[in-house]
Amino acid sequence: MENMATITIDGKEYSVKENQTILQAATELGIEIPYFCWHPKLSVSGNCRMCLVEVEKMPKLVIACMTNVADGMVVHTANERVISARQAVMEFLLINHPLDCPICDEAGECKLQDYAYNYSRGVSRFDETKVHKPKRVPLGPRVMLDVERCIMCSRCIRFGDEIAKQPALTFTERGDHVVLTTYPGMEFDNDYSMNVIDICPVGALTSRDFRFRSRVWEMTSTESICVGCARGCNTYLWTRNNQTMRLTPRINESVNSHWMCDYGRLSTFKFVNDDLRIREPMIKQGGKQIEVSWDQVLKTAAERLKEYKPKDIGVIASPFTTNEDNYILQKFTREILKTKAIDYVDHIKPEDEDDILIRADKSPNSTGVKLLGLRVDERADGVGEIMKDVKEKKIKCLIVLNEDLASDENYEKILSHLELLIVHSWSHSKTTELADIVFSAATYAEMHGTITNFEGRVQRLKPAVVTKGSSRALEGLSMSRWDKFGTQYDKWGRGPRRNARPAWEVFSLLALKMGGKFQYQSAEEVFSEITEKVPAFKGLTYQSIGRLGTMAKMQEKVGV
Ligand code: SF4
Ligand code: SF4
Repeated sequence: MENMATITIDGKEYSVKENQTILQAATELGIEIPYFCWHPKLSVSGNCRMCLVEVEKMPKLVIACMTNVADGMVVHTANERVISARQAVMEFLLINHPLDCPICDEAGECKLQDYAYNYSRGVSRFDETKVHKPKRVPLGPRVMLDVERCIMCSRCIRFGDEIAKQPALTFTERGDHVVLTTYPGMEFDNDYSMNVIDICPVGALTSRDFRFRSRVWEMTSTESICVGCARGCNTYLWTRNNQTMRLTPRINESVNSHWMCDYGRLSTFKFVNDDLRIREPMIKQGGKQIEVSWDQVLKTAAERLKEYKPKDIGVIASPFTTNEDNYILQKFTREILKTKAIDYVDHIKPEDEDDILIRADKSPNSTGVKLLGLRVDERADGVGEIMKDVKEKKIKCLIVLNEDLASDENYEKILSHLELLIVHSWSHSKTTELADIVFSAATYAEMHGTITNFEGRVQRLKPAVVTKGSSRALEGLSMSRWDKFGTQYDKWGRGPRRNARPAWEVFSLLALKMGGKFQYQSAEEVFSEITEKVPAFKGLTYQSIGRLGTMAKMQEKVGV
């Protein structure tokens, strides 16, 4: 049992934990005390003075971020004395600030801008020349600094020291000439450097990748999951005109706290917009791939697959896509194709793991695929056995989900032994070039579904971008008017560029064409069947998974 203290805040009595500061207690109670330099995951520096409050019997105002609560304490957070002190702090902070909100990337999500509206006098008494400081200073390969905008809160310095473990930033000079900089000969370059952009309360630190690309209010953010490794960091995926623009971390204390790595932030959203995306389903005719309708491609695939006996067919599933996609592919393999030759490729890079977030497993859903029972023999080396059978021409037809097998030279040669190669892929690759039939795949940003991280936490994906192939993806989307514009056909007939579908939908439709009864209307219906058939997922629903995910039963391994 924690020791509690009774304190009074603004005339109301509360029972709070004794080891908390006034700021922590007030935040938990939903009472707003403004602050710049305090951050829940960093040490307390107490230098911005914005959280000044009055505590009765104390001669001066105190900073709420560094003053512990005590039984009987009486706190005032908004009386005349406190308001006047806050206004003075804001006046000092704004004296030398360039006030260039119209060209600042942070505008619209800036603490200084919000507080200027809420806590400042609204006028400046300062009419002398402002102190000018360096602008457009590259702190490292991914972060740009505008020193004039910096309010010297030191959050970025503490982040480098305490979280990223790269003490590269410091202040030099004194008074209103203080400058944030790197130590001589150093760059601010670490795997987590871009988190300082999120925690900088002003527009002093901006992303070299994203700066000047969009105003914040022109974008829509969708709750999503990073697919860069098996951690599954919670993210916001920002879109405009049906294009993905940036990723930022979403707080989940069970997965990624407040952070994400730079690799995940930069590498897992651009391919959604990429010119390399497959626009339409395709079939090979006369040695050339031609774009066809979904009906035609599914009809062709059904007819060609019927030419083969179960033992002639192999299937490669994918840890890069959802539980729903892999479950339906597996069901299709076992019930329609009636073969057991299904497996998936491991993507482990042992040298690329740390004790912060980054995992060696570079696929987001290998745990889910395992729990679904896609690897019958745990000792097998991924697709090795299947490729051996392809080489020996025992397997004549191969279905591949989202893997560029041909990027490996050996596999490229082996694939040429096949009579029929069907590939479900979101991008053109060496493997899609070899394919006889190509299904254009929806990415994680274009579908509903679930993925399971390395610890067994099942997390939700929601569509942030709309494809032509799946109008159902529109369900539940909250879109800004810019995004809506991007999903509609304009007067020249230009609309969503990709006719892409998730694998659960494609292989359900293919099963229907081959005489199966795969009547699924949504990813949620597929998930509901998974929870009935696979013990590890028993009892889960999209609602119970919620915003922050929920644990699968890891001890209940193979279910189907
Ligand atoms: S750059 Fe931003 S985070 Fe760093 S000290 Fe200045 S205001 Fe604070
Ligand atoms: S640690 Fe992994 S999941 Fe998290 S942001 Fe990086 S790549 Fe993405």
